[in-house]
Order: sequence, then C-alpha cells, then structure tokens
Amino acid sequence: MQRQELEAYLAQLLSVAQFKDYAPNGLQVEGRNQIQHIVTGVTASQALIDAAIALNADALLVHHGFFWKSEALPIVRTKKQRIAALLGADLNLFGYHLPLDAHPELGNNAQLAKQLGLIPTGRCGDQNLVWLGELPVPMSFDTFTRHIAVTLNRQPLSIGPADQIVRQVAWCTGGAQGYFHDVANLDVDCFITGEASEFVTHLAKESGVGFIAAGHHATERYGIAALGQHLAQHFGLQHTHLDLDNPV
Ligand SMILES: [Zn+2]
Repeated sequence: MQRQELEAYLAQLLSVAQFKDYAPNGLQVEGRNQIQHIVTGVTASQALIDAAIALNADALLVHHGFFWKSEALPIVRTKKQRIAALLGADLNLFGYHLPLDAHPELGNNAQLAKQLGLIPTGRCGDQNLVWLGELPVPMSFDTFTRHIAVTLNRQPLSIGPADQIVRQVAWCTGGAQGYFHDVANLDVDCFITGEASEFVTHLAKESGVGFIAAGHHATERYGIAALGQHLAQHFGLQHTHLDLDNPV
C-alpha cells in the first residue's frame, strides 16, 4: 500500500485529531512510498531502528517516537544517529502516543486488560486515559500481584495490604503514576500503571488503594503489537513485532 494511504487510515482509526499530546502522532520521518513490511515496537531506539533496517522493513511503527515537547530541538548526537539511520534506509517512522493508549480495542489500556483478564467498565481522568474495571474472580492483592508478575513476565513494584481483596481496578499504562492522586479518591481497590514515584508509597498506605507499578515497557508492549496485527490482517501487510527488553 501507499504510505499516504496508511497514514490516513491510522489517523482515522486512532482518532488522532481528538488528542492533545506531547509529540506529533502520525508520520514522523518520511521514507519510501510503497509499504509491504511493517515492524512494530514500543520505542524508536537505535536498537529497534537497526533491527527494522536489518529486516528490510518499509515502515517502523512505535508508541514512543521523536519530537517530544520537552526534548531539545537540535538534531545532534543520538538523535542525529537515529534519524540518519532512518533516512539512509528510506525507512518510514510512524509514532502514536496517547491515541494508542486510548484506542478501545487495540490500545495499550485495552490490551493490558485483555492480558490480565480485567473487564473494563468505564474511563475517567485527563482525556479519559484512566480505565476502570473489575476482576471476574476477586483475589487478594498479593495473589493479584503474582498474577501480574506471571502474565507480564516481570516482577511489579507492589504497595498495598497483601490480604486485601481486589475487585475494582483502575489502570493506565506507561508513566501514569501522577494520576494516582485522583485514583486514590475513587472507589477502587488498586491502581496499575507502569512506573512509580516516591509519593505513591505514602498515598497507597494512607488511602487504602493498592499501587502496582508493573513496568512502563511491560504495560505498553501490547498495543503497538495489536495495531501491527490489525494492519496485517486488514491490508495483507507483512508484520514483525520486536519486543526489545527494557527493565523500566
Ligand atoms: Zn509510554
């Protein structure tokens, strides 16, 4: 398919125009026109770019791309190396941040729920990015933590009373620990996100809402993979998902 056709399809599928984001969502670095083989991964790191080039991919689709609002503008050092590699290989880079977190089926929150067996019941918070749901079979906080560890193949940082029964859960993938201020006021038993900050320990203990940091990468690896799979099925593209390990 043509690059422009893919970009237009993704803009509509992910409702890109509806989000206020820190980085541009869509085509970030332009490569060749014709797209047959797509590679997906969480972050447009040098390692992921090099792996996509080695596979002779036509497009690389990621959740964490380039040009973040807080980032320095000059294209020097590591940024130069990444962009030079993309341009040298004529490889397209597409990045989708909040639109991919939020998509009702293919998004990171939806896919994490699927992995963990959570039943979504609602959304709240900034741009509706926090999801609410329940466990079909309530279990202790300790057992739920172990369930997450086994499912995501990574030991989460878990702060809460081990024996407390978990029924109602709130979650937001990635670096969403700041939302715990609001979530701690909700009628939920625990909050799952990717990363932790110092304050969450005290807030979890004082509010009685358990806090689980299950890994930024670990909670966000499923959305982009589901998106690639969807595109492969829909357009007959070749799709390779690369899960490059990241302990954070
Ligand atoms: Zn993220």
